[in-house]
Amino acid sequence: MSNNKSTYDYGECHVCGEQMNEKRINQDFWLKGKLIVIESVPAGVCPQCGEKIVKADVGRQLATLIKNLRRLPKRKTITVPVVRFAKEVA
Ligand SMILES: [Zn+2]
Repeated sequence: MSNNKSTYDYGECHVCGEQMNEKRINQDFWLKGKLIVIESVPAGVCPQCGEKIVKADVGRQLATLIKNLRRLPKRKTITVPVVRFAKEVA
């Protein structure tokens, strides 16, 4: 039940069965010990449980982007606070 024809249908969440909505997310991943964040990645996000999926072609574009990262000029960087799990839970 999509009211926007240009929106890709991500189908139902494989975790809880809720309809996925398209959103722009910040996709983070680790590359050689550095945290990289790719902003505004189109993804399907589950409104119920927060599960995220990306389309196959977006996944391929991400993989290519990551592969080419070293060749890119200096990027905008942010500082990320690191929280030690055990300390916060204790
Ligand atoms: Zn879900």
